[in-house]
Amino acid sequence: MPAYLDNAATTKPCEEAVSACIAAMTENYGNPSSLHKVGLSAELAVTDARKSIAAALVCQPECITFTSGATEANNTLILGAAENYGRRKKKIVVSAVEHPSVEETVKLLEKNGFEAVRIKPQRDGSVDADEFVAAVDNNTCLASCMYVNNETGAIMPVKRIFTQIKRLYPDCITHCDAVQAFMKLPIKTADLNADLITVSGHKVHAPKGVGAMYIRKGIRIAPRMIGGGQEKGLRSGTESVPLISAFGAAVRSQLPTIATAYSNAEELSGRLRKKLSALNYITINSNAEEQCPYILNFSVSGIRSEIMLHFLESKNIYVSSGSACSKGGHSSVLTAMGIPDKTADSAIRVSLSRMSSCGEVEALVTAIQEGYLSLAKR
Ligand code: PMP
Repeated sequence: MPAYLDNAATTKPCEEAVSACIAAMTENYGNPSSLHKVGLSAELAVTDARKSIAAALVCQPECITFTSGATEANNTLILGAAENYGRRKKKIVVSAVEHPSVEETVKLLEKNGFEAVRIKPQRDGSVDADEFVAAVDNNTCLASCMYVNNETGAIMPVKRIFTQIKRLYPDCITHCDAVQAFMKLPIKTADLNADLITVSGHKVHAPKGVGAMYIRKGIRIAPRMIGGGQEKGLRSGTESVPLISAFGAAVRSQLPTIATAYSNAEELSGRLRKKLSALNYITINSNAEEQCPYILNFSVSGIRSEIMLHFLESKNIYVSSGSACSKGGHSSVLTAMGIPDKTADSAIRVSLSRMSSCGEVEALVTAIQEGYLSLAKR
């Protein structure tokens, strides 16, 4: 049995998602814009999925727009907010550890005359709420902070940050990339004080290629994709009914058990942390005061991440070096936390899902010990 422990990169689609996807391709294959009943039935499937995502974010379905994933949602929301709210206000405040789909979008805006302030993480990987808020001023059009960091699992104080920003600067738009928190931590949109939220399907046991953005009522986002006017003009293009239905089905089936899945992840992660901490050649990099149990980042002294990753692969155990998106490149997140290059070069990210088991964690611990013994000698 393989131990798939790379769930922050992507998850295995659940049965509910697969069935919904197949049904939308074999039976319910209409175009939601068609006026006949085959089209109407496809439209209903999209409406149902929208309701499920809205239920998970505790918001109204009208606030949810489907996209091709979180990258598109982050691009659309940040560029769209800058276009409408950044004509005179040219400052953007973000954390320095955002996913590239946020960071690269912010860089593009910098090329177009915006000023970006990046708030560095503390040594534990989380950003300081007061420091973040202090960087926002009357000239700031957008503040963006992720909920859970995809490399370390550090939970950011997004609620505190956004609540204070909204109190001091009600016109500043707040955006949260909640990809690694969605369906893991309870997210209540109103409590979070976020105007804009990004989520992705394939991190929550739905297929790749579908995501959603929450846009608070009254916030105007200029679309990136124009054409047929689908999704209320915010995202033109025929809706991917199979992927959207699968996303909805995955979320619907998991919603009642978020808390039990969280406890299970806490138990597994606690066990893993305890066993790894007992090994004197392991440094745990995920130490945030508020830490998401689904992600654990650690370094194996003297063994480069990729070498250990391939050793584990030979044992049928799948993890990541840093984030899957950086394709093995140096982790800017660990560097920003002040972790020495040598330690960052040997970082391994283990990420759990609601499908993870104790057996997988045990197999990983055994293999890390074997790997260290055989690789350290070379
Ligand atoms: N944001 C975060 C925090 C992520 O972890 C990811 C996926 N690695 C993305 C955005 C991009 O998501 P997608 O693959 O759906 O474009």
